[in-house]
Amino acid sequence: MSEPLKSSRYPSSALSMAQLFRVVLFDIDGTLLRTGGAGVRAFRRTAALWGHPGAMDHVRFHGRTDSSLARQFLDAAGLDASSSECQRFLHAYSFLLDDELSRNAGELCPGVLDLLNGFAGLPNPPIIGLLTGNIRVGAVLKLMPHALESRFILGAFGDDHESRDELAQIAHARASVFLNQSLTGEQILVVGDTPADIQCARAIQAPCLAVATGSYSVAELATFEPRWVTSNLAA
Ligand SMILES: [Mg+2]
Repeated sequence: MSEPLKSSRYPSSALSMAQLFRVVLFDIDGTLLRTGGAGVRAFRRTAALWGHPGAMDHVRFHGRTDSSLARQFLDAAGLDASSSECQRFLHAYSFLLDDELSRNAGELCPGVLDLLNGFAGLPNPPIIGLLTGNIRVGAVLKLMPHALESRFILGAFGDDHESRDELAQIAHARASVFLNQSLTGEQILVVGDTPADIQCARAIQAPCLAVATGSYSVAELATFEPRWVTSNLAA
């Protein structure tokens, strides 16, 4: 299965593939859903509350963890960038994210619902988890409008660590504890939409299914050599 997935092989081949794994870890933004920039707007509104409205204007958010973005903002603004200040910034951000999402919760990416439903119908379904740069409350706020928040039973989040590679290690460890066995990376599938997802999968020797429903094309993602790349989860 080293070839990129052909569109015509979805969704049945994705489900067949999933049976090969004990755990499937999903990124959120650009992979499960698109919020139309709610997170970025909430971050910029929080930066404005902190007195530096333009500080995040030229920052690329894709694939980043919320905690690393908060620290980058506080550093760039010359403010106290301690853990407690990052946490205070992210608390304020979560309220503004809720406000942004209440205006427009965005949409699920193509094929996501069918794929998640398909997992449930497998005789030996994999554990479905999250591997996301969103803080926990941000992840829940983004998933709730689509009734997906209870589909994922473990995960690693942007408030667990600033580094996405470390988040992959944390998710790997949590999955091993949950299943009460020492999982190898090859037993875990990471699904994500950015080079950072591909890289963090590599950090735990796990294969990555890269999906071009975020801001990177199939061709761009392919240059980072994920195990598989597809235009979307329904194609
Ligand atoms: Mg993403």
